[in-house]
Amino acid sequence: RNLQVHFPVKSSIFQRAKTFVKAVDDVSFDVNERETLGIVGESGCGKSTTGRAVLQLIPPTSGLVHFEGKSLIGLKSHELRKKRQNMQMVFQDPYSSLNPRLTVERILAEPLQAHGIGSHEERRSQILEVMDLCGLSSTYINRYAHEFSGGQRQRICIARALILRPKLIVADEPVSALDVSIQSQILNLMQDLQRELGLTYLFISHDLAVVRHLCTRVGVMYLGRMAEIAPVESLYETPLHPYTQTLLSAIPKGSPREVKERIILQGEVPSPLNPPSGCAFSTRCPHVMDRCRTVRPELQEVGGASHQVACHLYDEE
Ligand code: SF4
Ligand code: MG
Repeated sequence: RNLQVHFPVKSSIFQRAKTFVKAVDDVSFDVNERETLGIVGESGCGKSTTGRAVLQLIPPTSGLVHFEGKSLIGLKSHELRKKRQNMQMVFQDPYSSLNPRLTVERILAEPLQAHGIGSHEERRSQILEVMDLCGLSSTYINRYAHEFSGGQRQRICIARALILRPKLIVADEPVSALDVSIQSQILNLMQDLQRELGLTYLFISHDLAVVRHLCTRVGVMYLGRMAEIAPVESLYETPLHPYTQTLLSAIPKGSPREVKERIILQGEVPSPLNPPSGCAFSTRCPHVMDRCRTVRPELQEVGGASHQVACHLYDEE
């Protein structure tokens, strides 16, 4: 609720006052049990920071994060560590997120040891079980991370995230570093695991096709803010926010008859150091009105079915 993450910017000798980048600027959303909530947007829109702030890997500047009805804000580090058993992250790059000189067994044993779980034997059987779930042959257990391809490494990362039997996985672009041919294998694995283990996903991606395939609901972020959030069919069939309409117009359609006019935006994404007042999209929006430049639009439900949009076009007069 009302999540904000501000990063201080190194002030130069010319600047007296400290300046801040508002990486996440008043974002609110819910993730329901066993669903996949997608968060999409261009790079720099604050989606990764949002995911990290949810897990308290980055402390939010302000706002609330509740997990199973309990606040995660202000927990002592040992309390937070305990909660973390239930909330794990899968990162984008399976190369940099695994130590290449550790064996699969050591990588997967580490979270168990850190939480003091099981004897050596018990840990080994849990490791073999999670490897099997993730489609990793038991013969891999003594091999080193550097011996594996990108896709296999991401399976190891997913196994590491699952070893503590979490309920929520925050996956930050989990397939965008992989070959296209491997991407669908990993996405299918994530879907199978969700069904089998009853997992909840917060799935961060810039790839609208992947998100459509995988997610139950989708939130669209622009410049640190949530522009629109809706069930997946509703978002893709009737996008309401002009920014979402632009993003979706960029996806090529199947048949030539279906070709929609691609909307080309004017200008660049403004600097988060100096975001526009009013609507963050006002400097590029084809429908901009006077009040868009001064009044910040709040998320409001439009047309039912939990479709929310932050745009003055839908204000009731
Ligand atoms: Fe465009 Fe105004 Fe809607 Fe912002 S609030 S998206 S500027 S119409
Ligand atoms: Mg990112």
